[in-house]
Amino acid sequence: MLLDYSREELCAYIEKLGFPKFRGAQLFDAMMQAKKINEITNLPKNLLKEIELEYPHFEIERCLESKDGTKKYIYRMNDGEIIEGVFMKYKYGNTLCISTQVGCRMGCKFCASSLHGLIRNLSAGEILEQILIVNRDNGGDLKHRAVTNIVLMGSGEPLDNYDNVTKFFKLLGDEKGMNISQRNISLSTCGLVPNIYKLADDGWNVTLTISLHAPNDDIRRKTMPIANKYSINEIIDACKYYFEKTGRRIIFEYTLVKGVNDKTEHAEELSKVLRGFPCHVNVIPLNYVKERNLQGPTGKSPYIFADKLIEKGLSATVRRTLGADIGGACGQLRNSILDKKV
Ligand code: SAH
Repeated sequence: MLLDYSREELCAYIEKLGFPKFRGAQLFDAMMQAKKINEITNLPKNLLKEIELEYPHFEIERCLESKDGTKKYIYRMNDGEIIEGVFMKYKYGNTLCISTQVGCRMGCKFCASSLHGLIRNLSAGEILEQILIVNRDNGGDLKHRAVTNIVLMGSGEPLDNYDNVTKFFKLLGDEKGMNISQRNISLSTCGLVPNIYKLADDGWNVTLTISLHAPNDDIRRKTMPIANKYSINEIIDACKYYFEKTGRRIIFEYTLVKGVNDKTEHAEELSKVLRGFPCHVNVIPLNYVKERNLQGPTGKSPYIFADKLIEKGLSATVRRTLGADIGGACGQLRNSILDKKV
């Protein structure tokens, strides 16, 4: 797919096809504006014919708007696969939550993304395509971007698709393209320890978010199969390394599941595990997933949990749930075609 190429690679490719280099730059520009191929008027017909099959479709299958203004996008990739993303408006900017894989093989028991396992990785260009589509759909262009912040928190495990995800960072930072810097990107992982080290060693410095969801390995193993592979201690050591290399504070996600990890003693234990480490804890009330037999916390309990963490010296907030009425909240993104839910 043409979006997988950097600007330089695209120009070289177009030259190889026998066209002048500047045609590559024009093509790049059209793609960055999410133009459909039939909307391109400044390129010769024979060039368009030649690249037709590799040109991204920029296709929105469906867009659902929540009462709170959040939009859930359902996109169709060139091979027909469906993925979802969520666009959220905040005071400081607009955040797009993007997917990195079709499905997921991590198997977390509370999450809809892994209901059908991993179907395939998304390429770097397919990850970028989601942003270009939503930028255009919300009236943005390359000068005035409608999408300013990116979170890799849609379906998929980003560190399980390392090469494509890091190539995507490079594409996203192109100053003639979206020009979104690493400062505005958050990568969320369930904790693939070796790739946390690799990310730091390769010189990336996106914000690292860890889906921890438990104060100890026994509880973590109940809902997250990855906990059988890496311990919380190993994850925290990797986070310390990442922090030392990048200077970026680590964010820990803690989804509260009723009767599993939501007691005061769990907050106390968590605060001991994270004490003295420059981090922030995001407490997330479990969002409903119909196939999963788990309950979220009730009433004020997320706030009581977060207050306990604060009392014990941590920085913590309760994450506002956006888009739950359109199945767009954390953990609700799925392959809707497989679920016949679109
Ligand atoms: N695979 C990566 C990226 C997914 S991010 C990761 O695990 O971090 C999606 C976030 O939502 C993760 O923190 C995930 O654990 C959390 N989540 C999954 N299902 C959820 C649910 N039903 N309610 C609330 N949060 C959920």
